[in-house]
Amino acid sequence: MKKYTLPELAYDYGALEPHLSGRILELHHAKHHKAYVDGANTVLERLAEARESGDFGSINQLEKNLAFHLSGHILHSIFWRNLNPTGGDKPTGELASAITDQLGSFDAFKAQLTEAAMNVQGSGWGALSWEPVGQRVIVEQVYDHQGNVGQGGPPLLVLDMWEHAYYLQYENRKAEWVDAFWELVDWDDVATRFKAARTIDLALG
Ligand code: MN
Repeated sequence: MKKYTLPELAYDYGALEPHLSGRILELHHAKHHKAYVDGANTVLERLAEARESGDFGSINQLEKNLAFHLSGHILHSIFWRNLNPTGGDKPTGELASAITDQLGSFDAFKAQLTEAAMNVQGSGWGALSWEPVGQRVIVEQVYDHQGNVGQGGPPLLVLDMWEHAYYLQYENRKAEWVDAFWELVDWDDVATRFKAARTIDLALG
């Protein structure tokens, strides 16, 4: 069975400075993300043991841990690809049209995602996601890594609002971290994710 592995970044730890410090990126990738990768692998082993023994006494904790670690791994893997030293500006093409048509305008979308991210209670993320039933993009506010999200559609663009993502550099100035994020967004990557997501068919008619 395939194990989850920590993905290599396409850029050096210092490449996103001054918007994101190299020390934060190193800790975030090599320690925090790595812990989710290891956690996902471990919980799958525990679940296999439970199936083998028939002892499901820890099933609730195991299923919660599976959702948490797996979602943490996936969200961080998307997040690294969403960022680029040459990022910023706005989307173009079909992604830009979808945002304008379905969320009003780029500025309205940016305001909604910024507010969703800024107002996360506790730890979580802001996300632009594809919703395949309605064939639309939506903004979501994710609790931890796995809560408060619709089923069926993948995130296209994610913004980590856990304190580990910014606190060493921005302390409690969350708005500055969000401003920095917008300067780093790789819209070509988001467009690639958008194109792939639109092929999802949940076969619901
Ligand atoms: Mn994180």
